[in-house]
Amino acid sequence: MEWPPDYHMHTPLCKHARGEPLDYARRAEQLGLLEIGFSEHAPMPQDDFDDWRMRFSDLDRYVASVNAARAAVPGVVIRVGLEVDYLPGLEDWIKRLAAWYPWDYLIGSVHYVSSDWAIDHPGQVHRWAACDPVEVWRAYLQRLIAAAGTGFFDILGHVDLPKKFGHRPSEVLWPLWRQLFATARRAGCALEINTAGLRKPCQEMYPALKLLEEACRMGVPLTFGSDAHAPEEVGAHWPEAVRLARAAGYRQVLRLCKRRGTTTPLLDPTMSTMDTRG
Ligand code: ZN
Ligand code: FE
Ligand code: FE
Ligand code: ZN
Repeated sequence: MEWPPDYHMHTPLCKHARGEPLDYARRAEQLGLLEIGFSEHAPMPQDDFDDWRMRFSDLDRYVASVNAARAAVPGVVIRVGLEVDYLPGLEDWIKRLAAWYPWDYLIGSVHYVSSDWAIDHPGQVHRWAACDPVEVWRAYLQRLIAAAGTGFFDILGHVDLPKKFGHRPSEVLWPLWRQLFATARRAGCALEINTAGLRKPCQEMYPALKLLEEACRMGVPLTFGSDAHAPEEVGAHWPEAVRLARAAGYRQVLRLCKRRGTTTPLLDPTMSTMDTRG
């Protein structure tokens, strides 16, 4: 069978990933993934905003490093996009990033629940103790709904990211999840299954099955991402991810090229294996 493309992968330009795009592409080829895509953490208007993304002046080098992987590994289709942080007020900046290059897709992610709290940052996890978890989730979801509503993004990244350290969302937030999926559907924005959650304290992919079922029921398209920050993470847990998608009701996977989507069937992985030897 043909595996879904892995559309969420990083490069050393973000300063917390290891291995060149070439190494990720070779790993994909070894696994039998026919299509992958890079989504490096996009620059902010100020390069000192934080220390875990590329600088604006790195964009050329980023595209060149992906092109080098394409030239060296012609058997794998390699897309190039960005993982863009959405914060209110960044709209003009995001438009500028979008226009900078003919990207294949933009992943919109909310990491910042306020101007200075990145919800997935291990060094800031103590901040949960000083807050009502429902209000943290509410602030996060309101930002993500706003991100979806901008129409700037092709994919929403790891939609239940605040569960990373184990703070699961309360049932009372259900209307906001439905609002998120309705907004995504209207904006033509997909969700991703992001397998990185399995490598985090929450020990579960993003998003949880119940959310994925509702997204599928509401007609939101689906992509897949490992959020690889090292070559050996490419395509990590792919059979499980496909099984989760199918359990949620998905039978199609979205593919993106120059920000135009097409769908292909999402086949049952039960009968196939993936060579996961290092
Ligand atoms: Zn990262
Ligand atoms: Fe992210
Ligand atoms: Fe990422
Ligand atoms: Zn990510």
